[in-house]
Amino acid sequence: MEPKYKRILLKVSGEALAGDKKTGLNYDVITDICKSIKKVVDAGVQVAVVVGGGNFWRGRSSGAMDRTRADHIGMLATAMNALALADVLESLGCDTRVQTAINMSQVAEPYIRNRAVRHLDKGRVVIFGCGTGNPFFSTDTAASLRAAEINADIFLKATLVDGVYDKDPHKFDDAKKYSTLTFSKVIGEELGVMDSTAAAMCRDNKMKMLVFDLSRPDNIYDAVMGKDVGTVVYED
Ligand code: UDP
Repeated sequence: MEPKYKRILLKVSGEALAGDKKTGLNYDVITDICKSIKKVVDAGVQVAVVVGGGNFWRGRSSGAMDRTRADHIGMLATAMNALALADVLESLGCDTRVQTAINMSQVAEPYIRNRAVRHLDKGRVVIFGCGTGNPFFSTDTAASLRAAEINADIFLKATLVDGVYDKDPHKFDDAKKYSTLTFSKVIGEELGVMDSTAAAMCRDNKMKMLVFDLSRPDNIYDAVMGKDVGTVVYED
């Protein structure tokens, strides 16, 4: 079977790397995610990844700390996740490069768009750390930005729910799952899929996004093969 997409941008939240404890790194969980990424690479698909940092730190919930400083810490947390992901991918035989939006030249490459694309063309998994490099943004916004920059065919947003619902499925039994919807609706109805900056980036750049559940890691592979595993969000 032929993959549906040639180049993908996968967003993995920090929480998804933490397993049940919701904090720190769970190597069993990360290994399962990386195995699915490797299957996708072996199928000939170019894979770029943006990682979150919520398993270590979230700027907006850091209490009294100055927001800019708290966000700097948050971005450094994403760099730790990027390195952990690279390590596990490499142990599985995947070639990887970590590029960060905040320079840390002893640790990772700086983010350079053309260089990232060249790595992708060579079959390397490129992991983007430090979000956009700016406070007051999220890694979802970084993912929509990088997806547009590298001309990804799709933005795969891995979450812990199996798609987008009209209301919170954990609180309401009658919540209905969308199979498709537009970014305009996500923004207009404040559906809480992602922050509005990230949604507006996707809407304005007509980036297609698939929201799917990463508690079954092989959904990454299934999504790339075109199986119906979540909710497709798009803009005409
Ligand atoms: N962050 C930031 N700018 C960015 C991306 C992230 O300042 O462009 C900071 C922010 O403090 C955020 C933290 O990094 O709370 C972790 O990112 P995020 O909350 O998006 O991670 P996730 O929820 O996906 O794990």
